[in-house]
Amino acid sequence: MAAGRGGRRALEGLRYDGKVFFHPASGRLHADHAVAALQQRAAALGTDVRHRTPVLSITVRGDDAVDVVTEDDVYRAKRVVVAAGAWTEKLLGGLVPLPPLRVTQEQPAHFAPLRDTDEWPSFVHHFDERTLAATGFLSGVYGLATPGEGVKVGFHGTGPAVDPDDRDFTAEPRQLRILRDYARRWLPGVDPGAVTPISCTYTTTPTSDFVLDRVGPVVVAAGFSGHGFKFVPAVGRVLADLALTGERPDARFASAR
Ligand SMILES: Cc1cc2nc3c(=O)[nH]c(=O)nc-3n(C[C@H](O)[C@H](O)[C@H](O)COP(=O)(O)OP(=O)(O)OC[C@H]3O[C@@H](n4cnc5c(N)ncnc54)[C@H](O)[C@@H]3O)c2cc1C
Repeated sequence: MAAGRGGRRALEGLRYDGKVFFHPASGRLHADHAVAALQQRAAALGTDVRHRTPVLSITVRGDDAVDVVTEDDVYRAKRVVVAAGAWTEKLLGGLVPLPPLRVTQEQPAHFAPLRDTDEWPSFVHHFDERTLAATGFLSGVYGLATPGEGVKVGFHGTGPAVDPDDRDFTAEPRQLRILRDYARRWLPGVDPGAVTPISCTYTTTPTSDFVLDRVGPVVVAAGFSGHGFKFVPAVGRVLADLALTGERPDARFASAR
């Protein structure tokens, strides 16, 4: 990593030895707060938000008719928008042709910062692919501060493939050791021994491009490949267009590839 002159003060928790692109106006989004705010806004606009209501099946009845079955109800709709993350293939079961969606269990971790005074930008550390193996690291690294929890640091899409309904949520010791090695070498602002692993899933397409498409009355948003959250406003716009007008985004987001 490296920092331009403007970034030096802000990047004291990071070590850097090459060129850095630093954006002083960059920011972070608290994912849980953002989702809660979006749901509140949707509810205020008349959306009926239902938690803990798994969809059991989706059946296409015609170009403008689709049945969505939950434990308590059957909904007949003109369109359904499916954004089911790691469960997309299970839920759609062949209704929409999808590229291979590889679900992996990822294990970033929160490291305790050593100083209260450090400011932590969101950072991405790219390694030269030709020399990555020699570093011993598994991929490039991303990180950001999570208030109250520490500095989150993780490799990108390096976990084992899993069934989202049958995974152990347990950090694999070798990966954790390598992540701690990374922190020891590159993050002077954290305690590499004070680490709390997190478990989550990536759903990754072969190209890492998202699937944003519509087949008949079914709109699908999937395969966000570990980098989907920041695009939510744009993705929402695309999905609304697909549902309401059928207007498609660029072909790279097509479901059948
Ligand atoms: C460790 C980690 C770090 C990340 N960091 C970033 C980042 O820095 N920036 C970024 O932009 N993105 C990041 N991402 C990626 C981002 O979180 C995902 O791209 C995004 O959450 C994908 O949204 P989604 O709606 O496809 O899936 P999800 O967020 O997984 O949502 C799918 C939802 O569908 C629900 N569901 C599943 N099956 C059913 C069913 N049958 N009925 C009803 N509901 C169902 C699930 O319960 C879940 O709530 C990160 C992901 C991980 C794991």
